[in-house]
Amino acid sequence: MTVLDSRPGFPADPMKSTTIDDLSATDDALIDDKGVSMSTVEDLGAGRGPAWLDGWLRENARELVSWRRHIHAHPELSRQEFGTTAFLEKLLLDAGLKPRVLPTGTGLICELGSGPRCMALRADIDALPLTEVTGLPFASQNDGAAHACGHDAHTTVLLGAALAMAANEDALPGRVRLIFQPAEEVMPGGALDVIAAGGLDGVERIFGLHCDPRLRVGQVGMKVGAITSATDLLELSLSSPGGHTSRPHLTADLVNALGMAITGLPLMLSRRVDPRTGTVLVWGSVHAGEAPNAVPQQGMLRGTMRTGNRDTWAALKPLTEELVAQLLGPTGVQHDFQYHRGTPPVVNDRESTELLRSAVADALGAEGVAETEQSSGGEDFGWYLEHIPGSFARLGVWSGQGAKYDLHQPTFELDERALFVGVRTMVHAALTTLSA
Ligand SMILES: [Zn+2]
Ligand SMILES: [Zn+2]
Repeated sequence: MTVLDSRPGFPADPMKSTTIDDLSATDDALIDDKGVSMSTVEDLGAGRGPAWLDGWLRENARELVSWRRHIHAHPELSRQEFGTTAFLEKLLLDAGLKPRVLPTGTGLICELGSGPRCMALRADIDALPLTEVTGLPFASQNDGAAHACGHDAHTTVLLGAALAMAANEDALPGRVRLIFQPAEEVMPGGALDVIAAGGLDGVERIFGLHCDPRLRVGQVGMKVGAITSATDLLELSLSSPGGHTSRPHLTADLVNALGMAITGLPLMLSRRVDPRTGTVLVWGSVHAGEAPNAVPQQGMLRGTMRTGNRDTWAALKPLTEELVAQLLGPTGVQHDFQYHRGTPPVVNDRESTELLRSAVADALGAEGVAETEQSSGGEDFGWYLEHIPGSFARLGVWSGQGAKYDLHQPTFELDERALFVGVRTMVHAALTTLSA
C-alpha cells in the first residue's frame, strides 16, 4: 500500500500557511510506506453512513491524513498556537465558514448549521515541551515541541468533522459549535478562555475525544461519571530565625517541621478524606538547608494533589489549609501555604454519555462501543462540564499490534485510522444530539 506524505505540499513555516493560497493536499506526494511505521490508512466505518459522510471521507481521505501530518510536524506550545490557528482559520474560511479567533490570539470558535438548538464539539490544539523521537517522516520540525498527547489528531478530527458538515449543512438538524481550544496542557487551561469568550453560550451539550494508546483503533471508550481526576498544585514555604543545631529550643527547627508536613499532611488527609475518592497528595520537590550543623531559615515543599471526586475537590483546599496550620502550629515555624486549584475532574453525565454511546454505535457498529476507566490524569474539559452537561470519551489509537505507547512519551505514535473513526464519532454525536 501507499501512504500519504504531506511534506512537499506544505510550507515548513506554519506562519506561512496563512499567506499561501494552496493549502490543499493536491500537491502531496504518495510515497511507499517502507520504513514508515504506520498502519494502513483506511476508513474503518466506511459504508455505515450517512451517505454524505461516507462520500466526504472517501473524497477527502488524503487531505485528512495530510492535515494531521502537517499539524504534527509543526507543533506549538500552549498559548503559542498561532500557526495552527492560522492553518485552521484558512481551511474553515475556504469552506465558507466564519471562524472567530479567541481574544487571547490562539484557538478559534466556529459555528455551522441553523436553528434554535446548538451543541458543541471540542478539540485541543496545543503541543508539549518535549523532543519527539519517533523517527517519523513527518516528525516535529519545531525544537522542543511535540504532539505527544495526540492533540494533532484531536484537531484534525474536529477539522474533518467541520468540513464534512460544512459541505452538507442541510443535513444538520441544528447548530454545531466547533471549539478549537488552545492551552490544554497548562494551568489554568484554555477552556477558561473559551468560556470567558462566550464559547458555551446557548450550547446545550458538549462532547470531546482524547486519544487512548491502550485502546484498539476502531473503538471509543466511554464512561458515565468521572473519567479523569482533579489536579491541584501545592506550595508550602517555611521560615525560621535559623540557628545552631545544638540549640533547637532557642529557634524553630525548620527541617523537622518540613518533615512533619511531608509525612503528616498525606497521613492526615488519608484519615479525613473518604479513601474511595482516590485522593492522593504526593510531594515532588523539597528544598532546605546547607550546613549539617545549622538550622536553615527557609524551606520549600511542592507537590500535587489529585482526586477523582468532584465534591472532594471542592473541599480539599480549606481542609488542607486547616491541616497545615494545625500540623505546623506547635513547631514555631512560620509558613506560607499556596494551594493552587487546577482542573476539576471531567464528570460525564448519564444522558450525554448515552447519546454518545448510540452515536458511536451508529458510526462504527456495536463493536466500536467500549467501556473505559477513570484515569488519575487531569483534563481541562472538566471546566466545560461545570457549566453544561456533556461527555468526554477515549478514542482508540492502538493499532492492535506491537507496543502500546503512553501519552506524553517522546515516542508516542498513533494509528491514523483513528482520524476517520474520530470524524465519524464527532459527526454522529452532533446528529444524534440534535435529533434527540
Ligand atoms: Zn496531555
Ligand atoms: Zn491531552
